[in-house]
Amino acid sequence: MLIVMRKDATPGDVRGVVTAVETRGLKAHPIPGAQRTAIGITGNRGALDAPVFESLPGVMEVIPVSHAYKLVSREVKPEDTVVDVGGVRVGGSQLVVVAGPCAVESLEQTLVVARHVKEAGAHLLRGGAFKPRTSPYSFQGLGEEGLRMLAEARAETGLPVVTEAVDVEGMDLVEEYADAVQIGARNMQNFSLLKRAGRSKRPVLLKRGMSATLEEFLMSAEYVLSEGNYQVILCERGVRTFSDFSRNTLDLAIVPAVKRISHLPILVDPSHGTGRREKVAPLSRAAVAVGADGLMIEVHHDPNRALSDGPQSITPEMFAALVGELRQIAPVIGRVL
Ligand code: PEP
Ligand code: MN
Repeated sequence: MLIVMRKDATPGDVRGVVTAVETRGLKAHPIPGAQRTAIGITGNRGALDAPVFESLPGVMEVIPVSHAYKLVSREVKPEDTVVDVGGVRVGGSQLVVVAGPCAVESLEQTLVVARHVKEAGAHLLRGGAFKPRTSPYSFQGLGEEGLRMLAEARAETGLPVVTEAVDVEGMDLVEEYADAVQIGARNMQNFSLLKRAGRSKRPVLLKRGMSATLEEFLMSAEYVLSEGNYQVILCERGVRTFSDFSRNTLDLAIVPAVKRISHLPILVDPSHGTGRREKVAPLSRAAVAVGADGLMIEVHHDPNRALSDGPQSITPEMFAALVGELRQIAPVIGRVL
């Protein structure tokens, strides 16, 4: 259920509604909007008694929310959400490019790639210090040492850092270093991790599970918001299909589908979405054209020797050329890069 406050409702009116909601054992989520404040209610099993809330001071109307996802939905918040990642705004008119290696391998590698992507125009640096690998024998990441390298690259380049937390136990550590915490495709339905991320002070970049439907994807984001963290960025990274010419099938149609029903920003990751270096640029161009709020791209200065995801990592030169193309596409659809 959604309680819409009148335009002239006072902060005291809003507090009164929150108290009324909480005394019923439910959770209130005040969402300030351009026109008025709305208060989402979660935690109820069945329908709530609307007239009780309608009679409270400052309340304009009480609207039942028809979808299972509430807080992520445009019914609750019509305006686009803009997420602040270390001063970089994700979801506004500016397209945001997140770039960097799949995994942090060494300080030198991290600095070299960070300098290149910064110079080419990236806004955020990515790199995994904890890697969720399919095989237990593959490189698992440098752990805290890797996080320190990312922090050093941030200090030098000024690029805020996006890096993955793979489990609840690792969240405290990742939060200390990251400007945004990534939750990977394999963990999209790790509900304890999602709830922990919901209690984080950091924004969350949530990647779509490799077989997740749109509804499942949004419900996972709902977990994070329901715990009080409204700073969530979605990321499409391809799904499993019968297609045999790429690692995954990049589902670009989810971008307008998300935009229609959710206020959350959505990025596209053409690196995992295709698994092939030569397909990254064409799918990046398409992602921008289709309305994505930005891209997440794997870049490595020596991809053939990368410890993880080398075949899909593009070189700094390819990255710079791609950003140049995206700068031309962006204004056509009213964005800036
Ligand atoms: C990654 O971003 O390096 C990663 C592991 O992505 P995904 O969770 O989408 O596979
Ligand atoms: Mn990767």
